[in-house]
Amino acid sequence: MRIIIQKFGGTSVASPEVRAMVVGKINQAREQGYTPVVVVSAMGRRGDSYATDTLLDLARASYRGIASRELDHVMYCGEIISAVVMTGVLQAADIDSVMLTGGQAGITTDDNFNNARVMKVDPARIMNFLKMGKVPVVCGFQGVTADGEFTTLGRGGSDTTAAVLGAALGAEVVEIYTDVDGIMTADPRIVPTAKILDIISYNEVAQLAHQGAKVIHPRAVEIAMQKNIPLVVKSTFSDAPGTLITNISKEGPERNAVTDRIATGVTFLPNIVQIKVPLDQDATPMESHKIFRALADGKISVDLINVHPGQVMFTVAEDVAEKAAARLQKLGYSAEARHDCAKVSVVGGGIHEVPGVMANFVEALSLYNIPILQTVDSHTSISVLVKRADVENAVKALHEKFGLAD
Ligand code: ASP
Ligand code: MG
Repeated sequence: MRIIIQKFGGTSVASPEVRAMVVGKINQAREQGYTPVVVVSAMGRRGDSYATDTLLDLARASYRGIASRELDHVMYCGEIISAVVMTGVLQAADIDSVMLTGGQAGITTDDNFNNARVMKVDPARIMNFLKMGKVPVVCGFQGVTADGEFTTLGRGGSDTTAAVLGAALGAEVVEIYTDVDGIMTADPRIVPTAKILDIISYNEVAQLAHQGAKVIHPRAVEIAMQKNIPLVVKSTFSDAPGTLITNISKEGPERNAVTDRIATGVTFLPNIVQIKVPLDQDATPMESHKIFRALADGKISVDLINVHPGQVMFTVAEDVAEKAAARLQKLGYSAEARHDCAKVSVVGGGIHEVPGVMANFVEALSLYNIPILQTVDSHTSISVLVKRADVENAVKALHEKFGLAD
């Protein structure tokens, strides 16, 4: 059996017209000899009746404080409604299909409500349906704990469902259908010359996703990478081939296509806060340890870290900045917070091997007169912190400097 996972995002299942296109994609896969397993997201976006954010807003309005466990139940409804509707549409098109919740599809998670991790996938039930010739339509983004509690996999987690099912079923490929023709070199609303990438490595796309590009859930990429299952991001609304996400260590033309370029994409994270904590010149290393431990205990993740004898500096997301400051104050430190920052990153598998990359980076920003507040690099990326007001120019400048429009 040549299994293919076909995951359809919210905009691909939002209306009868687009659901008809989904039927077309499923039929196409079957004609090509694949056995499809369909995964769906909740229908539409905030404001649409059954979209995840609409349901969340409704529930939140009646709760004081956080109700993680209960919110998972309301979020569950979005994917269930979507799967019920899609199964009906397939049946009406004479495709024998059956809907399954995440739990029924064999997905067991931990009990970290709202952001659960998949612990185990038992594909037996899906396999049985496949042997009966049925097309399973699985609710994305959900699972169930060993105790039977309902959980969701973190926002955007239908991609994760597709990846874990692909891994458990030994799928030949996992297709992620969306409303754009593939992964782009930058956000086209900022950079009109941005291009669709025909191929990208798992590492690069995971970096792009972590650094702010809303392309695919990074966990889905990590799971597919472990099993070396190709992912394809493509549009429900066109016949464009999409972007293939694969392993660059493979020999052959794909390897060159991926590694011969220095940069693959430019992306950014808005709403970052830079925090500086002044220390005495003779402060012991124990002090920075205390600071980072206090933040870790508060489950606050820190980024762009610089530790100097007289100062500790790092960034946090805007929504946890207040909590971070409170923790530091409790320890007796007077932290200085700079709001309205953004992190801009250039991602590329070849970036670490090439001399002069940083010089180009700095030159591009200096031409636009954009001050750099902090920098950090990794094996596949270079990032800088800039003022929020400079972010669009920074993305444009870097996209051009690294030849991504050519
Ligand atoms: N419906 C969920 C969300 O909006 C999961 C997904 O779309 O992947 O986050
Ligand atoms: Mg998504």
